[in-house]
Amino acid sequence: MANPVLIVGSIALDDVRTPHGEVRNAMGGSAVYASLAAAYFTRPGVVGVVGRDYPKEYIGRLEQAGVDTSGLEGQDGQTFHWSGYYTDDMSSAHSLETHLNVFAEFMPKIPATARSAPYVFLANIDPDLQRLVLDSVSKPKLVMLDTMNYWIEKKKPALLDVISRVNLIVLNDAETRQLTGFSNLIRAARWLSDLGPQGVIIKKGEHGALLFWEGEWVSLPAIPLESVKDPTGAGDTFAGGFIGALAKLDDLSLSALRLSAALGTVMASFVVEDFSVGKLTNLSREEIRQRHDRLRQLTIFEALPEAWWAGR
Ligand code: AMP
Repeated sequence: MANPVLIVGSIALDDVRTPHGEVRNAMGGSAVYASLAAAYFTRPGVVGVVGRDYPKEYIGRLEQAGVDTSGLEGQDGQTFHWSGYYTDDMSSAHSLETHLNVFAEFMPKIPATARSAPYVFLANIDPDLQRLVLDSVSKPKLVMLDTMNYWIEKKKPALLDVISRVNLIVLNDAETRQLTGFSNLIRAARWLSDLGPQGVIIKKGEHGALLFWEGEWVSLPAIPLESVKDPTGAGDTFAGGFIGALAKLDDLSLSALRLSAALGTVMASFVVEDFSVGKLTNLSREEIRQRHDRLRQLTIFEALPEAWWAGR
């Protein structure tokens, strides 16, 4: 039987520098962050390619977390490599180098057992690869797509084509403005959903996330954090937590999507507290539960009695 979630995206070795330190050849890539986050709620299968230089220990960490890595392909050559840095304002990454390496020629082969996965996440990767995956899955309940400025600049027509075929698109605020040309995010989300998707999620970093689903809006804050060491992967972790939770709920109502977005927010709040996937590989259920409760406390406010509205 297929795993409940199929995740396709980059598997990377990352060099990252922030005002709090730096790491080299660290575990990174959109599919890695997303599958580690999803694995707290369900069993995700990951499809992607790694080069000969990819440490076996990293595959071991994915397996140990409960990610099915049988869809990972090894090829001669170097693993996808990204390097970037953040300044004091850690709201956006500055990319230094993106070496696609083995991803440049990659043709995703979806294992026969994974083709019927009900939930599919096309994480950030070449939109042509996202389309190939979409062509090989059979009638999923929901397909969600993520992307980034690199692909918006290089492959916009292919990206718009694949967006028109998915149910849900997840982007950060800067990418949304860049892709749509609208500075107003509400208008941008409507424009995106007019292309075909039923839903749009706009991530706003420390300012939370907006969810637009079949004409309804949900707005969630981020959990206030005193220590942010490395924001890399926050968006992918949000998306992975979201789709993992949604697959576990197996429900496409607005309330299930809102709860999944809350759990994505919770998972993202952990990943930024350490470099790479450091915090994501050893969380306890209790820690996740406490942050879920904290996010609820942050967003609940009282209903008012009729008398309040009647007088001053
Ligand atoms: P995020 O911070 O959530 O936007 O994602 C950061 C991750 O995206 C890093 O681990 C990178 O390896 C990966 N990444 C960076 N550039 C690209 C790209 N052009 N395509 C796919 N993944 C990328």
